[in-house]
Amino acid sequence: MDFGLTEEHRMVQNMVREFVRREVAPIIKEYDRKQEMAPNILPRMGELGILGICIPVRYGGQGMDYISLGLVCEELEAVDSTLRVVMSVHMGLNSMALLQWATEEQKQRFLTPQSRGEKIACFGLTESGAGSDVAGIVSTARKQGGDYILNGEKMWISLATKAHHALVVARTNSDVPDPHDGLSAFLVELNSPGVTTGDIHGKLGMRAGSTGWLAFQDVRVPAENRLGEEGEGFKIAMSCLDDGRYTVAAGATGLIRACLEASVKYAHERQAFGREIGKFQLVQQKIAYMVQSHDAARLLYLRAGWMKNQGLRNTRETSIAKWYATDASFQAASEAIQIHGAYGYSDEYEVERYLRNSKGAVIYEGTSEIHQLMQAGYALGYREDASLRCELPAYDPKIWQE
Ligand SMILES: Cc1cc2nc3c(=O)[nH]c(=O)nc-3n(C[C@H](O)[C@H](O)[C@H](O)COP(=O)(O)OP(=O)(O)OC[C@H]3O[C@@H](n4cnc5c(N)ncnc54)[C@H](O)[C@@H]3O)c2cc1C
Repeated sequence: MDFGLTEEHRMVQNMVREFVRREVAPIIKEYDRKQEMAPNILPRMGELGILGICIPVRYGGQGMDYISLGLVCEELEAVDSTLRVVMSVHMGLNSMALLQWATEEQKQRFLTPQSRGEKIACFGLTESGAGSDVAGIVSTARKQGGDYILNGEKMWISLATKAHHALVVARTNSDVPDPHDGLSAFLVELNSPGVTTGDIHGKLGMRAGSTGWLAFQDVRVPAENRLGEEGEGFKIAMSCLDDGRYTVAAGATGLIRACLEASVKYAHERQAFGREIGKFQLVQQKIAYMVQSHDAARLLYLRAGWMKNQGLRNTRETSIAKWYATDASFQAASEAIQIHGAYGYSDEYEVERYLRNSKGAVIYEGTSEIHQLMQAGYALGYREDASLRCELPAYDPKIWQE
């Protein structure tokens, strides 16, 4: 495994770092306070090619590898988690699922405009009564002639009111012994008659982002918009999470770095008992733990990215990267506030926003408890990954850049 970054990786890293430093950092606090998404974020991410970063050029993408995706997420979340959420849902949970599972025709219709940033994509799995327990999904898609009729409601959907396309998981069969086998996945155009969307207000964090709901009332979805086979929805959703969780892990690594940098800066500036607080060993200990968790989180996500590049199944490695990095980013943000004392408790500094944002990531894309169950399951031999009908393709620069 070679974790050295190529020149191309560094170019992507610098491009995104400059974008967020110049265009996002100066305005993000204002939009976090207003609890709305800055209007230029999605168009600019599209223009810069970020929304198609690891998608082959022939599908409108930039033809870069999966490590580049991780680096993008790390840089975005070092300024604000809401930008990385865009990558998690648009790219990780939707576009990469198309790369893995879609027919050629579906790739042309959905993936290409998404990669170019002309269309924004989201992911509708969670319902008010079904989060961790996906088998509890009650939205239905009933076959009628050449269409499916979709009914139900999806909750807690990032970009619900910004997206044009949604990957929606609904029940096509209630009469199966295992309820997981009765789910199917659909590519839904959100301007279809019968679709309504709305935003959720009053969130703890992710306030400069968009989280909402999708409601479907007798929405006609053409059968050619079904992703994969009927009954394959659960497997598709879990494969989406392998990519979404990777983006979350990489982003959380960027958030730990932001906490570390803010803490080091403040520890040099702030004086107490006649010296800068960085001289106190208890403050040093907090900083040392941030350094440790940053390096560990980074190595864990790079391992998962390397495995994706090789075309190796990485559900276990991505889960541990996501679990570790998000728990560690919450801890780092909490300690960063502690180092800032009372100033950290106000939005004069960035660290209170880091803490509010970091909490979301230990809930979505598998709560920390779900990842613990997964890891124990692998260790105890209760869980193993069967091969999938369609795997995420290994990165091949020739094919990607053709
Ligand atoms: C900001 C934000 C953005 C989101 N974006 C999306 C999105 O774009 N698309 C989407 O589909 N969803 C999205 N979600 C939803 C998210 O994926 C779910 O909230 C998550 O899966 C947890 O489900 P839940 O909230 O229903 O909690 P529940 O599943 O009800 O869990 C409640 C508690 O019980 C625990 N628990 C549950 N089962 C077990 C078990 N077997 N063992 C031990 N403990 C257990 C959980 O760990 C948790 O602590 C988002 C959520 C948030 C907060």
